[in-house]
Amino acid sequence: MAPWLLLFLSTLQPFEAVEPHMGTLVRVKLYAADERQARSAFRAAFDRIKELDAILSDYKLDSELNRISQNPLKISDDLFRVLAASQKLAEQTGGAFDVTLGPVIRLWREARKNNRLPDKEALREAGARCGYRKLHLDATNHTAWLDEPGMQLDVGGIAKGYAADEALAALKRLGIRSALVAASGDLAFSDPPPGKRGWKIGVGSSGRVLELSNAAVSTSGDAEQHLDADGQRYSHIIDPATGMGLTSGITVSIVAPHGIDADGISTAVSVLGFERGKEFIERSFRRDEVDMIQ
Ligand code: ADP
Ligand code: MG
Repeated sequence: MAPWLLLFLSTLQPFEAVEPHMGTLVRVKLYAADERQARSAFRAAFDRIKELDAILSDYKLDSELNRISQNPLKISDDLFRVLAASQKLAEQTGGAFDVTLGPVIRLWREARKNNRLPDKEALREAGARCGYRKLHLDATNHTAWLDEPGMQLDVGGIAKGYAADEALAALKRLGIRSALVAASGDLAFSDPPPGKRGWKIGVGSSGRVLELSNAAVSTSGDAEQHLDADGQRYSHIIDPATGMGLTSGITVSIVAPHGIDADGISTAVSVLGFERGKEFIERSFRRDEVDMIQ
């Protein structure tokens, strides 16, 4: 190794910061030359996440996501990217991943708050307003529109992974090459820490330790958000085929090149279950591209 490179590496120090964003805590770890550089880097990463939340949130009434209606709306690159990835995943999984589940997801959120299962009739009615084929994207005009009134989009299953990717990109623009962004279960990594092979991260029930760089890993499960009722645990992940929260208790981690992929795939595989999930991954991705860990 060239002596000047050694000097460069040894001057980098680790820094860490946490902020609340997108309804969760976002943690950033990075290597920088000094505290000044680290501070401005953290600001840029968190500001980028905040900007994305304002676009992608279904809670914020005036988010770009919530402004999509039956009239074609010209949308930002960020929203287009997230919706295009979502629709591709919906096609690939036969609709197991579906960002038009908003009306049903809202009933389940309410149900968790009241600690009571959603009303069957209300679920049926809300379900009739869902379906990914009723969301349309036009790549030429960069527009999006919905077939029916009363539809509601929810990108909660994919947005945090994309935000992690974009936070890393913001860091890279400021010259920070080694970083980790963790938005609860969605992690993305750029170059390894100086002198290391990768960022060490434990995943799966066996606690397998991976060393990752320029990759992402997402974990989906019912550990954090669920409703216990009638002797069952209902996940915040919905099976679009039934409108019900998953009761399989599945927890799955997905390793992929980017957070947007890892996040969406982990939610989709939760719905599909291990076996059909594995089939979907083998059918859709190269073996060295996407990995599933139980
Ligand atoms: P977490 O938000 O805990 O990291 P996920 O990435 O699996 O977990 O996302 C779960 C969120 O995805 C739900 O809170 C909801 O907003 C949304 N969602 C639920 N079911 C589906 C589904 N079948 N397809 C797409 N998104 C879903
Ligand atoms: Mg997800």
